[in-house]
Formats: sequence, structure tokens, C-alpha cells
Amino acid sequence: MTESTTIRWEQDGTGVVTLVLDDPDQSANTMNQAFRQSLTAIADRLEAEVRADPESVRGIVFTSAKKTFFAGGDLRDLIRVTPDTAQQLLEGGLAIKRDLRRIETLGKPVVAAMNGAALGGGFEIALACHHRVALDAPGSRIGCPEVTLGLLPGGGGVVRTVRLLGIADALLKVLLQGTQYTPRRALDNGLVHEVADTREEMLAKARAFIDANPESAQPWDRPGYRIPGGTPSQPKFAANLPAFPANLRKQTNGAPYPAPRNILAAAVEGSQVDFETAQVIEARYFVELAAGQTAKNMIQAFFFDLQAVNSGANRPRGIEPRPVRKVAVLGAGMMGAGIAYSCARAGIDVVLKDVSAESAAKGKGYSEKLCAKAVSRGRTTQEKADALLARITPTADPNDLAGCDAVIEAVFEDPALKHKVFQEIQHIVEPDALLCSNTSTLPITVLAEGVERQDDFIGLHFFSPVDKMPLVEIIKGARTGDEALARAFDLVRQISKTPIVVNDSRGFFTSRVIGHFINEGVAMVGEGIEPASVEQAAAQAGYPAKVLSLMDELTLTLPRKIRKESKQAVEEAGGTWQAHPAETVVDRMVDDFGRTGRSGGAGFYEYGDDGRRGQLWPGLREHFTRPGHRIPFEDMQERMLFSEALDTVRLLEEGVLTSVADANIGSILGIGFPGWTGGVLQYINGYEGGLPGFVARARQLAERYGERFAPPALLVEKADKGERFTDARRPADA
Ligand code: NAD
Repeated sequence: MTESTTIRWEQDGTGVVTLVLDDPDQSANTMNQAFRQSLTAIADRLEAEVRADPESVRGIVFTSAKKTFFAGGDLRDLIRVTPDTAQQLLEGGLAIKRDLRRIETLGKPVVAAMNGAALGGGFEIALACHHRVALDAPGSRIGCPEVTLGLLPGGGGVVRTVRLLGIADALLKVLLQGTQYTPRRALDNGLVHEVADTREEMLAKARAFIDANPESAQPWDRPGYRIPGGTPSQPKFAANLPAFPANLRKQTNGAPYPAPRNILAAAVEGSQVDFETAQVIEARYFVELAAGQTAKNMIQAFFFDLQAVNSGANRPRGIEPRPVRKVAVLGAGMMGAGIAYSCARAGIDVVLKDVSAESAAKGKGYSEKLCAKAVSRGRTTQEKADALLARITPTADPNDLAGCDAVIEAVFEDPALKHKVFQEIQHIVEPDALLCSNTSTLPITVLAEGVERQDDFIGLHFFSPVDKMPLVEIIKGARTGDEALARAFDLVRQISKTPIVVNDSRGFFTSRVIGHFINEGVAMVGEGIEPASVEQAAAQAGYPAKVLSLMDELTLTLPRKIRKESKQAVEEAGGTWQAHPAETVVDRMVDDFGRTGRSGGAGFYEYGDDGRRGQLWPGLREHFTRPGHRIPFEDMQERMLFSEALDTVRLLEEGVLTSVADANIGSILGIGFPGWTGGVLQYINGYEGGLPGFVARARQLAERYGERFAPPALLVEKADKGERFTDARRPADA
């Protein structure tokens, strides 16, 4: 045995050394310090043994004793890297690369027997092997997802994928999108050499490779090797080079995502130099990303916060899970149809009810279309699609809801109608059925008054299109019980979506906060700023949808309706309605110009007869724009970002939001808050100058654009105390 602690050396009489990745202190193997030391010890021993007796080692197999092959970099370590400790990170990374390279060039065949997921660092270890055999285990994924955490594969992943696939394929198939492949798709794309169905078969294939290739080497270490597809120094390739920045721009929309840019640079620069220099170039670009704020934001959100949210930090403890077997979906319109599909896809029986058999059948038709598309694209089999569709029963008869243990209501946004449909079915479904409403704005406590069992009533706010959107906002009404909350949480997880939990309020968290983003964009049009610049500001801030086009999608009559109801509620409670400058713009668009948005065929944009979006309406310039009126572009972007962040702090003050992780994840997955920020509260944490910097900037915006930007008391207090927005249970702090 060697002294290494995370890699076990196993050798049989045949001269094959199996290196079993098995960190005794963690459930998954990561590139932590123990691994680094172990890898050095292993490389030393392999070299020593081969030197002493070249026949003693015939080949090497990397495999793992864990469920996953190898999890990748240790994100707990990475999130703490500062510019001061970056040098240490650089040296640690280079040491791993050196040791993998020593094994790769030992002159013996090296095989990765990938028994489970090999993502990031795990796939990089596999790439350093001459042959890769992947076990087709359920959930097993292969690839380099670093870009989705604001990083690049810094363990040789850029250098080797470029040499394996060529620059263009490495960038497009592996590095820039961070695609995670199933073992079979990894095989189709040339990332692995063989796939096995059992562990025994995988190990047998690894040995067979060793037997057949006693003097194996990587393609790039053989004489005459050239990078597939050429390199930028060759004229044919150079002609295509300008396409890369254009691709990059398409991917980031000009938003501040540094990782794709560094990946491109590491790939192109690294392709023009020798392997060892390319490794150093890759390491430098990696460390630059790891020491920056964006990677910290993204690791915090997409790893730690997402884990906290999905693992049930918000689910009441001690309540036995009870999977839903049969769900009633009331209303087979856009949302009901999507909810029915998502539930049936998760194996739940669905009774889809609408006012007539025809409209219910039309709702099921949506699933039929999605299934046909999935089959034609090879994403599912006809058999599975048929089984999914067989689980959905469309009906207009309330009696068909007998036996349902959960109800999700998605009829028109009208409280009286919602009361009525629940009253109609509450004694037909199971006596303890969970009762959910998919309202996007109405207070849950008021809707609950329409049913007898108010403690079983809860808000389950899905996003459109339901089959694609990963988030569900759970809204606890004043009388919702813990049991209902736990069951709602479990139902959302059962259909593989991410649940955030908020307390009741008009518009809850997501609908209320996205309203600020839209209002700010619309208000700028009203001030006379060029509408095209407003759209550009939203895109370059990293929002997935431009702000005026989003307003058109939602229809301009919606904010008027919400405004009317909210104003009434505020005034009934004795308050004063604070008008937003966007309101006059919306009113003029609707009342003076009859432009109500895309569904009405005309809004801020023009629309074709087929509903396709055309140009911005030229009338905007005529009626609103003050030629030459400009404000700093940064102000335009930050007015949108700040308006959402500031209201999120108010929601924390009001107790509607109770968790920072929920706010961050909900903002990114639900309402398109830019991912580079790490979410709406992490944006404040990571702002230049921290919370005090954010407060100062909010005050400046308030002075320039209105009191709505004044920092709320909670924010000022935290800034004064030197605190940040964090949950007690958060595993890491970026
Ligand atoms: P929709 O108009 O597409 O569908 C509503 C459906 O309810 C229609 O098919 C209608 O026939 C049916 N319906 C009406 N009365 C009924 C009754 N008595 N029994 C059964 N069905 C009845 O509306 P939608 O966009 O699917 O929205 C539904 C709900 O979801 C609303 O509360 C809305 O606020 C909410 N919501 C919508 C979105 C969105 O993006 N559209 C997002 C989240 C939540």
C-alpha cells in the first residue's frame, strides 16, 4: 500500500494496477488537498515501480468506489479563493496537471473505467487516460459544466478536449455550453471510447484495452500529431476565427460573463503552443476566473443555494412523505395543460378538468404535441410517450375527480371563479386532498376562504412554459398548515422541480419583483430614452428577455388590472398608493394607441399576422422619445437590477421571504434575474464595495430617478453592521 489516502492502489498477479478513487472522508471524490497529495504519491510509486522493473506494471485502470466516478473541484475551497490566495491555487492546479501528465506519459496503457458521473475534474482525469469506458448507469453524466459556474476546466480539460476534438468541436460541444452527456451520447460525440452495461463488463473492457495496447500513448503524444480541424495559424482556420467572438456574443448577449471569454482564449492560445505551455495558459485563465466575483456568485447560487433549496431546508421537519398518486388539474388552459404534462411525466395520474370536454381534450392535446416532439427527437420512446398520455384523463365532469389526493387549480385569475371551482370539487376528491392554487397574484389567504379545509390550502405558483421552467413558488397562506407545506414541497420535488417557499402577499415574491424590472424599463421609455437602448440595456445586464418585449408578452392590460386591485387593497388598509412613472406610459399605450401587447397584435413591438415579433413600434419614438436625451448606460442597467434587488430586501423586511437562498434561486430560475449575479441578494453581496457600496449607489439612483431607489432600513442596517445577506444554514459564503 502507498501512503495515499484518497486513491487506493490495487494490484493483481497480471500486472494491472487499479487505482480506486475513494476519499474516506467524503461521499464523493473531489480535487481537495488529500487528493492532490495522493495523486503525487501514486505518480511517484508508478514511476518507481516501472523504473525498477518495467514489466511489473502492464497497465493502469482508474475507477472509483463511490457512486460517482469523481465529482470535480472542491467548490468549498474554490469559493474562498481571493486574489491573495490565487497563487496557491495556481500551484495546486499545476501540481495535479503535472502528476496526471506523468501517469499519461508513463509508456503504459491508462484506462478510465467511469462507473458513474464524471463531470468537471472527474472528466478531466478521464481525459488524461488513453481509453475511456463509461458505465451506462442511471443518472450518469459526462462533460465539463464549469462554464455554468463561471469557471473553466482547469485540470487540463481545455487543453485535452481541443487536442481530442479540435478547437471548434471542443468549444461548441464541451466547453462553452457545459453540456452534460449521457454515456451513450458521450460515445456518439467522441468523448468516450466504449460504453458498458455492467461494472464487470466495464472492467473487462478496460483490461481488454490494456491487453491489446501494451504501448499505448495519447494521440497528441504520437509523432506527426495535428489538432483535428487545424489551428489559427493555418490560413483555412484563420478565416473562420472571427466567427468565434460572434458566437461568444450570442451566448452571453454582451452580459458580464467572463468564463466563455477565458475559455475561448485558453483554447485558441493553447492550440498554438506545446502541451505543457498550453497547460500553464489554461491554469492562468482558470485562476483569473476563480479569483473573480462572478464565479463566486455562480458557485454560491447554482451549487450551494440550489442544494439548500432542493434538499428541503424549508420543509417542515418530521412529516412523513406521501407521494401523490392522482392529481386533479382544474382548468386546461395554458398553465393547466403544462401542469398536467409535468405531473404525468413524473408518473402521476392526472384528471384534467375544464368547462367542456372539448377544452379539456385540447389541454391534453398540448401533452400529445410535446410527446410527439420528444419521440421525433429521440428524447423518449413511443412506448413511454404512450404511457405518459394514458395517465392524463380529460374531463368536464367533476365526479371524475374522485380518488384524487391533490388538486391544482389553474382557471382564470378571478377569485370568485376560483372559490366556485374549489367548492364544486372539495367533497369529491379524497377527504384530505392537498388543495393548491396556481394563482400568480391573488392572496392565498383570501382564496383559502372558499374551502372548508383552509389548513390544506396552499399556493403552487408555476411558471410558463411549465414543462421547461424549473421553479415552483410555494405560497403559505395565513392558515396553511405544516402538513400541507410539506406535502406541497414533496409534490414539487416529485415532479423534479425546484420549490421555493414564501409567505402570502399580493404578487408573492416573483410576480411582485419582476413587476419592478418591467416598470423601470417602461418608465425609461416615458422619460424619453430611446426604446432600443432600453432593450439593449436589459440584454447587456444579462436578462434573458428584453424588457419591453416581456411587457408585450404579459400584455399591457395585466399591470393595469394588478394596479387597480393593489391600489384598492392599499387604500382599504388605510395606505396611500405610490404611483409609478411607468403607469402613464402603459395607460397611453392602451388608451391612446390601442396597443395591448402581443396577444392584441400590437404593443411596444409590431407583430405579424402569425404573431411573430417585428420591429419596435416607430410610434414610440414619435410619441415618447426626446431626441438626444440620454442617461448613463450603467444607470439604465442598474435601475433595472436595483429596482428588483431593493424590493427583495423589502420582502425580507415584510417577512414574505424568509430565506436568502430562496430569493437567489427564485430570482434566477423564476424571473430571469441575471445568472452572473448569483441571484438578487447575492447581487447586493457581490456589488463593488459590498453592502455599503450598494447603499451608496442606491442613494445616488434615488437622487437621480426617484425615492423608489432609497435603500430600505434593513439594507442600511446590515451595511452599517458590516453584514451580508446570508442564511444561517448556508454552507458557504461567497
Ligand atoms: P387560460 O386562460 O389559458 O386558462 C384558463 C382555463 O380555465 C381555460 O381553459 C378555461 O376554460 C378554464 N376554466 C374556466 N372556468 C373553469 C371552470 N369552472 N372549471 C374548469 N376550468 C375552467 O389561463 P392560464 O394562463 O392557464 O392561467 C391560469 C391561472 O394560472 C391563472 O390564475 C393565472 O394567473 C395563473 N398563472 C398564469 C401564468 C401565465 O404565465 N399565464 C403563470 C403563472 C400562473
